[in-house]
Amino acid sequence: MKAVRFHEHGGLDVLRQEDVPEPGPGDVVRASAGGVGEGQRVLVQPGLSCGRCAACLGGQDNLCRSYGLVGYQSEGGYAELVTVPVENIVPIPDHIGFREAAAFPFTFLSAWHMLVTKAALRLGETVLILAAGSGLGQAAIQVALAQGARVIVTAGSDEKLARARELGAHEGIDHYRDDIAKEVRRFTDRGGVDVVFEHVGQATWEPSMKSLKRGGRLVTCGATTGPSVSMDIRHLFSRQISLIGSYMGSKGELLRAAELFFDGRFTPVVDSSFPLAAAVDAQRRLEDKSQFGKVVLDV
Ligand SMILES: [Zn+2]
Repeated sequence: MKAVRFHEHGGLDVLRQEDVPEPGPGDVVRASAGGVGEGQRVLVQPGLSCGRCAACLGGQDNLCRSYGLVGYQSEGGYAELVTVPVENIVPIPDHIGFREAAAFPFTFLSAWHMLVTKAALRLGETVLILAAGSGLGQAAIQVALAQGARVIVTAGSDEKLARARELGAHEGIDHYRDDIAKEVRRFTDRGGVDVVFEHVGQATWEPSMKSLKRGGRLVTCGATTGPSVSMDIRHLFSRQISLIGSYMGSKGELLRAAELFFDGRFTPVVDSSFPLAAAVDAQRRLEDKSQFGKVVLDV
């Protein structure tokens, strides 16, 4: 079968399409996070865990000591076939397309765990969602709206801000042009937001902290622009800010989020799709930062 792999770290030029042996019989799934070759169409739970420890059996498999991700600690979806454990497949109804199904698990599971489980975002609260045009950002908008929150987003262009508003975001901030914290104060009658949805890291950490109201919660799952930040601890305790780390989510949470996907309340936004052989072009699309939503590989 065909697979796109790399054998050394580097730029896009290290990605190569190669002929590799097919995985053995068992739970063979076709497409990048897509469906089974014959029979049941499914999507793939991205989290891998032991299934036997207290964390796993307590429904918090993303706290398992051996937690990993399909494609990170195992062979991944840049291939015509991929093998995953049977507990990692979720059947999808006929009306759900493979591209939308592929765009769903990683983004909505992360956003759900961050906003619903970790930050406990509630009806009537205000949330600031950074980088709304990313796969994670579009999912966070939809999860936050489902919780009944008021949603302020940032994005890098007027076009992306318009797309975010189409999804239901109430206010938009151009994170290249505008001062994020200043705009947040303007939109919140100088009060700040209850929750900041962080995944950008270094470039936005300071405005994210400044955008919180007293007692606010900052939940983060990423460091796209860099992992090192500095912080005045006096602001942390005097303003009683909570910093919350989040990584993926549990299998049970994905099943709950999937119910809202299957009944049409969540719609994963697919920016574009590329054939497997053009995986380099798909990666370039992400590096250009021009996308709104997920970039999907077709096989
Ligand atoms: Zn475990």
